[in-house]
Amino acid sequence: MLFAPFGREGQQRLSRTSAVLVGCGAIGAAAANLLVRGGIGRLRILDRDFVEASNLQRQSLFHEADARQSLPKAVAAERNLQRINSDVAVEGIVADVTPGNAEDLFSGFPLILDGTDNFETRFLINDFSIKNSIPWVYAAAVASYGLTMAVVPGQTACLACLLDSPDSAGLEETCDTIGVLGPIVNLIASLEVAEGMKILAGRSSALHGHLISCDVWSGKFQSLRPERDPDCRVCVHRQFSYLAGEVQPHITMCGRDSVQIHERNRSLDLKVLEDRLAATVSGVRQNGFLLRFLVPPYEMTVFSDGRAILKGTKDPAVARSLYAKYIGS
Ligand SMILES: [Zn+2]
Repeated sequence: MLFAPFGREGQQRLSRTSAVLVGCGAIGAAAANLLVRGGIGRLRILDRDFVEASNLQRQSLFHEADARQSLPKAVAAERNLQRINSDVAVEGIVADVTPGNAEDLFSGFPLILDGTDNFETRFLINDFSIKNSIPWVYAAAVASYGLTMAVVPGQTACLACLLDSPDSAGLEETCDTIGVLGPIVNLIASLEVAEGMKILAGRSSALHGHLISCDVWSGKFQSLRPERDPDCRVCVHRQFSYLAGEVQPHITMCGRDSVQIHERNRSLDLKVLEDRLAATVSGVRQNGFLLRFLVPPYEMTVFSDGRAILKGTKDPAVARSLYAKYIGS
């Protein structure tokens, strides 16, 4: 409130508004922390994954106990954020954002923040944003390098103005093998949330309108203002192919040797599944949110919405066959 460009009025506006955060890994955890401490009124957090010990180096919202319990990140984030600021309505939803559920999960929020680890989901967010005229802030990081830009429909370039397709991003293929430093994700999340807070507090005139890239290792920082593409597929021609589900969903998981399998509209009773599997496989554990078991060299984690993450392979065929065998086809 003492910071004049934001002021008491900006703070009051922030406390009466909301945002949806898509993905709560490293950037998402840092962004959620800042927004909740900053006093946003309501924050919805969407995440498909669970906490592991190897996340703790950069995912600043989670603790060792969350990893020991294999809590879904959306659940651990909600609990930890409520202990930070109990005035904020935090809603963690364990879900993978897909063309089938994106409109339901994003609707009603004046801002979408990017905490995802893949460009398919970013193009889906971009489609929703342009179609419904809702701003979003893009943020990505890998190794020591990151990028961020606020997309304001009708005013700024959109993600599709910058990149033709996920393949042209050049960031995604590498995150499995080259890691990511804690400092870059916190820096990118800070830049992302600063733009988001301007939008939420009614200070959009203060948006800098730049795509910022930075590298905490080389010390190189760049800031440029991208032009809108006069022939953009999304913001000019309004072809929302990701939202329409015309693009194959992404099934590999960033930063780990795993694939994800979707079984939509399938609700699993984890206790029943635990009892059934305990007779045939080893290491069966469940915590009310997910169930895990071992089929060496693989480890399967199944969520109550029927989704599963198979660790130990990147081959979807292997994952599908083990899923059919142990969970059902
Ligand atoms: Zn565009």
